[in-house]
Amino acid sequence: MLSGKNGPDTLPVFLSGASETAERPPMPARVRDPASLTVERHPDGLIVLTLSVPDRAANVLTDGVLADLESVAAGLATITAAGGWLPRGLVIQSGRPGSFCAGTDPERLETLLAAPATEIAHWCDAARATFARLSSFPWPSVAVIDGTCLGAGLELALACDLRIATDAPQTILGFPEVKLGWLPAHGGTVWLPRLIGPGPALEMLVSGGHMPAAAALAHGLVDACVPPAATLESARRLIDLHTSTGFIAARRRRQAAAVALDDDERSFLESLTSTVIAGRTGGHYPAPPAILRTVLDGTSLPAPEAARLETATAVELANTSVSRELLRVFRIGERNRYDSGVANGSSDPAVAAEPSRAPAVVGAGIMGAGIAAAHLGAGLPVLLVDIDAAVLAASVPAILEEAAETRLGQRPDPAVALALAPRLRTAADLAMLAGADLVVESVAERPDLKRLVLGDIERVVGPECLIATNTSTNPIARLAEALDDPSRFCGMHFFNPVRRMMLVEVVRGPATADATVARAVAHAKRLGKCPIVVRDSPGFLVNRVLMPYLHEAVEMVREGISCVEIDRAARAFGMPLGPLELYDMIGLDTAFYAGVVLGAAYGDRIETAPVVPALVKSGRLGRKSGAGFYRYAGTGPQARMLGPDTEAAAIAARYRLDAPAGAPERTSAERIIDRLLLPMLLEALRTLDEGIVRDPRDVDLAMIHALGFPPFRGGLLAWAESLGAAEVLRRLEGLAPLGSRMRPIDSLLDRVRSGAGFTTPRSGSRLA
Ligand code: NAD
Repeated sequence: MLSGKNGPDTLPVFLSGASETAERPPMPARVRDPASLTVERHPDGLIVLTLSVPDRAANVLTDGVLADLESVAAGLATITAAGGWLPRGLVIQSGRPGSFCAGTDPERLETLLAAPATEIAHWCDAARATFARLSSFPWPSVAVIDGTCLGAGLELALACDLRIATDAPQTILGFPEVKLGWLPAHGGTVWLPRLIGPGPALEMLVSGGHMPAAAALAHGLVDACVPPAATLESARRLIDLHTSTGFIAARRRRQAAAVALDDDERSFLESLTSTVIAGRTGGHYPAPPAILRTVLDGTSLPAPEAARLETATAVELANTSVSRELLRVFRIGERNRYDSGVANGSSDPAVAAEPSRAPAVVGAGIMGAGIAAAHLGAGLPVLLVDIDAAVLAASVPAILEEAAETRLGQRPDPAVALALAPRLRTAADLAMLAGADLVVESVAERPDLKRLVLGDIERVVGPECLIATNTSTNPIARLAEALDDPSRFCGMHFFNPVRRMMLVEVVRGPATADATVARAVAHAKRLGKCPIVVRDSPGFLVNRVLMPYLHEAVEMVREGISCVEIDRAARAFGMPLGPLELYDMIGLDTAFYAGVVLGAAYGDRIETAPVVPALVKSGRLGRKSGAGFYRYAGTGPQARMLGPDTEAAAIAARYRLDAPAGAPERTSAERIIDRLLLPMLLEALRTLDEGIVRDPRDVDLAMIHALGFPPFRGGLLAWAESLGAAEVLRRLEGLAPLGSRMRPIDSLLDRVRSGAGFTTPRSGSRLA
C-alpha cells in the first residue's frame, strides 16, 4: 500500500498518492502497491518505509520483498532526478511487532541451495545491491530495529547509514547463517567488519550468536538504543545531528574502503579464530573457516571487491551436504515449533487450552531441580515439593543459579538469581499443590512410589490440572491406573542435564486425551524445549534407540577393542561423547536398570550384557563414583577423566567374546561406526513401523537434541538416507555373523525394493 500524508504538491509522484501530473517523472510499476512495504511521507520531511511481509509469522526476505525494495529504491531515485525538494531522511522500520526482519525466507534458501551457481550468485548480488541502493541517496537512511533482526534483516540495517535499536527484550541482532552452514551473503561480511572492526565481526559471524540492543550499542553496531515509543523522534534527531557534521559522508566512505589491518593483526586474528573454530566444530563444519577467510581477505579490499569474495564463498558453501543437512534440521525444528502435538491441532477448542499459570514439580532430586530451574529460566513461577525438607532446602541455591544462567545464557549473575528467588516456592507437603494447574512428578524411579505419589497429587489438585510424570522406564498405562482420570495424565520425559538437553518426550498413554498432549507440548515449548510426541512403550523413543548403540559398544569391548578406540571413532563421526564415555556420564547403574527393562521387552536383540552389572558390582558406577569404563579425578559431571580403567578392562576380559567370523584383524573406525549406528537405525525404523513416533523428522530431532547426534549429518535417518537403503543393507549383510541384532527388517527391505527414503513420512502414516 502506498500513502501520502500532508506533503507539498511538488513531491515526486511515487510518494504523492493519487494526484499525478504530466510533468512528474513516471512512476515505477510496482511502487504503487508493493505487497510487503508501506511508504509514507511525513510532514517533517521523513520518508518512512514500513516492512510487513504478508502471510508470514515474521518478516522474512523473499523474492517479493526484494522486488518491492528495488521498486522503492527506483522511486527514490526519481526524487533526485526531479531536482528540487529532498527528503530529510529515509527511515526503514517494521510494521510487525517483535520482528524487524528474521532473515532470508527458509523456503527460498532451500530452493537456492539446490540452484545452479549463477542463480545463487545473482540472488546474493541483487539483494546486496538493492540494500546498498536504498542508502545511496543524498539524504541519510536510518534502520529502526524493534524485535528480531537477523541475517538478511541485519544486512538491510547495516546497509543504512544509521541504526537505532529499541530496548525491548525481543530486540536481538545477529547473523545465524553459520548455523545453516552458510554465511551472510548480502553484504554482511563486507559491512560488519568495517563498522565494528574485524575481530568483533568475526566473533559474531563465526559463532552465529545474537546480542541484545544494549550490547549492540556497546559494540557500535547500532548508534542509539531507545524505548520503542521514541524511535521516530530519535531518528529525526540522529539525522539532524549527523547531517550537519559530515559524519554520514565520512561513514559512507569508510564502509566502502579497505580496512587498515597490518600483517601482525591479521595473523593474530587468523590464528585465534582458527583455534576457536577448531575447538567448536572439530573440523566438521566448512562455513566457519570459509567465513574467516572471506572476512580477512575482504577487509584488505575495497567493498565492491570484498562483495565478490562474499558471493564466491556463498556459492562454494551452498554446494555442500553440510549446508543442506543443517538447513533441513532448521526446517524440521521450525515445523516442530508449530506442531501442536495432535493431529487436529489448534482447531479443537479443547486443545487450544490456556497456558499453565501455576506449574509445580514434585521431587527435588537431580531431575526435579533441573525442571524447576527450567521454569524459572523461562520466566515462569514454580512450586517445588519434596518430602525431604533437607533436600528441598539444599536444592534452592543451585536451582536459582542454574535459572540465572539459563536466562542470561552466560555465567550466573547473583543479582539475577536473587531476583528470581520470589518466583520459586517450596513445600514439603503435597497439600500445597492445591492451586497448581500442571504438575510434573519427578520422584525416584520406583513404580510403587510413583503410583502412590500420583494418586496423592490427584486428590489434592483441581479437576483441570494436568498431571505428568518424568519417568524413564515405567509404562504410562500402568502409572495411569493410580488415577481416577487418566485422560489428564501423560509422560513428560526430560533428559539429564535438563539445562542443556532440549528434548522432551511427551508420552501419550492409551487414555491420554488430545488436550492433555497439546497442553504438555505447549508447556514444554514455553520452557524453551523441543517436545516430540511418542506412544507409550518400553524405552519410549530415545532410550529404546540408544540402548543398541550402548550395547554394541560393550560387545566390542568384550572382543578386545579398546574403549578409547571405540569412543575416538564415535567422536570423529561427530558425536559429542563416545558410547563408553556416555555410559559413564549416564551412570552404569542407571543404564543397567534401563537395559533390564528394555531387555525384557526386546530381548531378541537387546540382551543385557554381563559386563555392566559386573562393573556396578565392583563399585564402578561411572563419573558419579569416580570410575567406570574410565577413571576420573573427583566425581560428578565435572570430574576430570584420567584414562581407561584397567580394572574395568580386566572385568570385561572375564566375559571375553571371540571376534565374529570373517571380521577383519583390525577393526576400522568405519566398521565401529557401522556396528554402533546400524542396530540403532534398525530400532528407529521399528519405532516408525510400530507408530511409536509420528514422523521420521521427529526421530532425527530427537537424536540431535537428546543424544547430540551431529547436526551436520542431519540426524540418524538423514545419515541412513545419505547412504541409501541398498548400501545400508550391504553393510548389515557384512555384519550378519554378529547375530539377530544386525538382521535387516522388512521395512528396510521394502525401502531397498521401492527405492523409498528414510526421512520422508511414508504415505498413510497417521499423525496420532
Ligand atoms: P532422585 O533420586 O535424584 O530424586 C528423587 C526425589 O524424589 C528425592 O529428592 C526424594 O526426596 C523425592 N521424593 C521421594 N518420595 C517423594 C514423595 N513421596 N513426595 C515428594 N518427593 C519425594 O531422582 P532423579 O534422578 O531426579 O529422577 C527422578 C525421575 O526422573 C525418575 O523418574 C527418573 O527415572 C527420571 N529421570 C532421571 C534421569 C536421570 O538421568 N537421573 C533422566 C531422565 C529421567
